[in-house]
Amino acid sequence: MRTQVGIVGAGPAGLTLGRLLEQAGIESVILESRSRAYVEHRIRAGVLEQRTVDLLNGAGVGERMAREGIVHHGVELQFDGERHRIPLSDLTGGRTIVIYGQTEVVKDLIAARLATGSPLLFEVDHVAVADLDSDRPAISFTHGGVSQELECDVVAGCDGFHGICRDVIPPGVLRYFDKEYPFGWLGVLAAVAPSSEELIYASNDRGFALHSMRSPEVSRFYLQVAPKEDIAEWSDERIWEELRARLETVSGWTLSTGPVLEKGITAMRSFVTEPMQFGRLFLAGDAAHIVPPTGAKGLNLAAFDVTVLTRALSAWYGSGDASLLDGYSQACLHRVWRAQHFSWWMTTLLHTFDHYDAYDRRLQESYLDYVCSSVAASTTLAENYVGLDMPDH
Ligand SMILES: Cc1cc2nc3c(=O)[nH]c(=O)nc-3n(C[C@H](O)[C@H](O)[C@H](O)COP(=O)(O)OP(=O)(O)OC[C@H]3O[C@@H](n4cnc5c(N)ncnc54)[C@H](O)[C@@H]3O)c2cc1C
Repeated sequence: MRTQVGIVGAGPAGLTLGRLLEQAGIESVILESRSRAYVEHRIRAGVLEQRTVDLLNGAGVGERMAREGIVHHGVELQFDGERHRIPLSDLTGGRTIVIYGQTEVVKDLIAARLATGSPLLFEVDHVAVADLDSDRPAISFTHGGVSQELECDVVAGCDGFHGICRDVIPPGVLRYFDKEYPFGWLGVLAAVAPSSEELIYASNDRGFALHSMRSPEVSRFYLQVAPKEDIAEWSDERIWEELRARLETVSGWTLSTGPVLEKGITAMRSFVTEPMQFGRLFLAGDAAHIVPPTGAKGLNLAAFDVTVLTRALSAWYGSGDASLLDGYSQACLHRVWRAQHFSWWMTTLLHTFDHYDAYDRRLQESYLDYVCSSVAASTTLAENYVGLDMPDH
């Protein structure tokens, strides 16, 4: 088999890249180790920046998102038992976020890809990448028990944090930056109408809680828990009780409960690879960087990386000019580090830390109060949350 761009991974990064390349008239083959059903039902992100919404619309996959996505103009911060609304749109010249699950984005992208007949292979095994420093890199894999080799001009490593592409780069080329947080998030999907019109980020002495949503009938919640917490210790009753204790401190507000559809614990981590490329391999999305989900940036960063990569590949195929490809990492990392800082900042602002004493907690409350009462400080939160306009580098 031969193609122009071999894409490893059919998550948001790989699928969006495939779609953008198709629009640019560049061939690709997408290889995914999981089944279609698994990829389409993996519950993860749900907050799309305006820029990501515009990108998906421009890619011709925004029709259902326009119908079913929920536009939000603000978020609530809660501390000391009080809620404070951050009016995102008022502070950012009318920008919004859209609540539309990653599962739905992925379903729309897969449907669009299959409709055009462009190659997308699920359940591939033994994926290996070779000859990255030549002009003929290759991906070997097995599909349906048959060994195959895909010759490409370029390989896009869109295979997430646990993928294989990053590890193929020779030792000494990459520099890693990372931070582990001393807690995880217990994520809960429940068949109950949201109890709030907007997301609630709650700082509480018992730990952080987030009330989010996926649709008018489905709510999403997160609880700060110990990183090695056993999910078996968290019965549905215990989850609702803890959510009530952390969120329901506002007078006159009650949390609606319903059947829990899914629950799981995710470690919280920050991670960046520099550079994001080696020879003819380009890493995009979680393969190159991870943020704690507090800032809702992971999927949005993946969408940005592949926009930069598409632009660079279009220039290269169009005129032979490799300067944008050579500058791919630098162009992405500028935004990646802004998102890293914002995600770390939101995380440290809102969570409790075991090593915090009463003094540290007071400092945190004072900062929260400042963010909610100063236009300058709330604008900082708002413009980062909806997605900053940043010059290309
Ligand atoms: C609990 C949670 C909540 C989150 N909330 C948000 C949020 O609110 N907003 C936000 O923007 N982001 C959020 N994120 C982050 C977001 O989900 C990720 O950043 C996003 O999925 C990254 O997309 P990706 O395509 O880079 O990687 P992935 O989604 O990880 O996709 C990589 C794909 O590659 C495949 N793969 C792996 N190895 C191989 C291989 N060897 N061969 C072939 N295929 C392979 C995987 O099966 C997978 O399908 C959240 C993440 C978690 C875990």
